[in-house]
Amino acid sequence: MLDRMADIRTVVVGCMDSRVVPEEVLGIGAGEAQVLRVSGGRVTPEVLAGIVASAVLFDLHEVVVMHHTDCAMSKWTESGLRAEIERVSGAPCDMEFPAYADADAALADDVEAVIRSPHLSPDLTVSGLRYDVDTATLHTVVAPIRRGRGGAANPRAGAEPVRGTAVD
Ligand SMILES: [Zn+2]
Repeated sequence: MLDRMADIRTVVVGCMDSRVVPEEVLGIGAGEAQVLRVSGGRVTPEVLAGIVASAVLFDLHEVVVMHHTDCAMSKWTESGLRAEIERVSGAPCDMEFPAYADADAALADDVEAVIRSPHLSPDLTVSGLRYDVDTATLHTVVAPIRRGRGGAANPRAGAEPVRGTAVD
């Protein structure tokens, strides 16, 4: 069992949206990758902890962050979502929600969050993809970049990363 698990080389971060199943979109079979699904596919501290844990347990080579179009997290502000939850539930809400307005910036920020972690290998590559739910197509927004020394990377979409090496 442990030997099989040791073959895992990829972590995929995806949204919990029921329309976008990372295993189907990326063709991942059982035992082939770790898949973390959260609101918006955002790299929250808990998601990053999952990535770091996977890197320690497995010979991790790559992290793929996959957002998608028409995501609920891109339609709400965090305060607006809290207010709606309070309205519906009648209870005060101080939970954190990774809402975003700029889709490209959110994806670049999530890639950057992985790159900045001091607990990951310099050889790890990180990429940012966006799945279009209307056309059922996958688009590369942040091409795979090698983490390198990390810490100062700023892989904004359409811009050269400050650090990290582009990988074809
Ligand atoms: Zn979503």
